[in-house]
Amino acid sequence: MSWFKRVEKGIVTPTEEKKETPDGLWYKCPECKTVATMAEHKRLLSTCGNCNHHDRIDAAEYFEIMFDGGKFEELDAEMHSGDPLHFVDTKAYPQRLVATEKNTGLRDAVRTAHGLSNGQGLVVAAMDFRFIGGSMGSVVGEKIARAIDFARQQRVPFLMISRSGGARMMEAGFSLMQMAKTSAKLALLSEAGIPYISLLTDPTTGGVTASFAMLGDFNIAEPGALIGFAGPRVIKETIGKDLPKGFQSAEFVLEHGFLDFIVDRKQLKLKISDLLGMLRPAAIAATAPAAKITQRAL
Ligand SMILES: [Zn+2]
Repeated sequence: MSWFKRVEKGIVTPTEEKKETPDGLWYKCPECKTVATMAEHKRLLSTCGNCNHHDRIDAAEYFEIMFDGGKFEELDAEMHSGDPLHFVDTKAYPQRLVATEKNTGLRDAVRTAHGLSNGQGLVVAAMDFRFIGGSMGSVVGEKIARAIDFARQQRVPFLMISRSGGARMMEAGFSLMQMAKTSAKLALLSEAGIPYISLLTDPTTGGVTASFAMLGDFNIAEPGALIGFAGPRVIKETIGKDLPKGFQSAEFVLEHGFLDFIVDRKQLKLKISDLLGMLRPAAIAATAPAAKITQRAL
């Protein structure tokens, strides 16, 4: 005998009145297909509780993770791209920028900010893949260059979080110039004795790998991140051979000596502050500008 009995027959609910499960209530891991609640997924900083797959997250989420109490001051938040080459592909570059800004709420593919991380000043530049594949154009290069300058002037360590498809096609040569510019700025930072940590996340490729992402005093990566210069298909076609298993994964790149270590996102803040604690010369902690930034960040 059933528990419930339909008394009235022929009840039809129109489509518009049907209640649907709200989007974003459940998360299904793309790797192991384990299902978790979105709240649990968020609690694990968008990593899978079963296989530890690291989902792609945006600059805003990295700022939330890295800065104490999620408090930070953004640098150059309003900077956005021009159209130096009057570039047109399937649509004109300015139109593409406007549409992407509207869809993502972002100004370009990187955000830079400073604040306190475990009580110590830190400048963070984090890339957003949703903005034209995290591609590096003039704005990305300029914002990173300025963030490095800020770190140097304030004598505060610099953390770069890369997630990029490489140089931005629509700015061609102007994009490539950003590689030289950011590299030169990092050389000045190094000369000033300020630590630079580069975190490579999924994916980090092209001109970004070939410049600032691989220039850290420590180059570290998230588990499973794709790290390379050219894509695997291009390499396979060029050398005419099959590529080894796990090619271009963070683990493979680590094994071949290009990375210092792989860090779980849940350990990221602690690992960075431990590392900086070891690197930080007494001069940085004790200088007046560092004290000033501490007050401003609060
Ligand atoms: Zn999983």
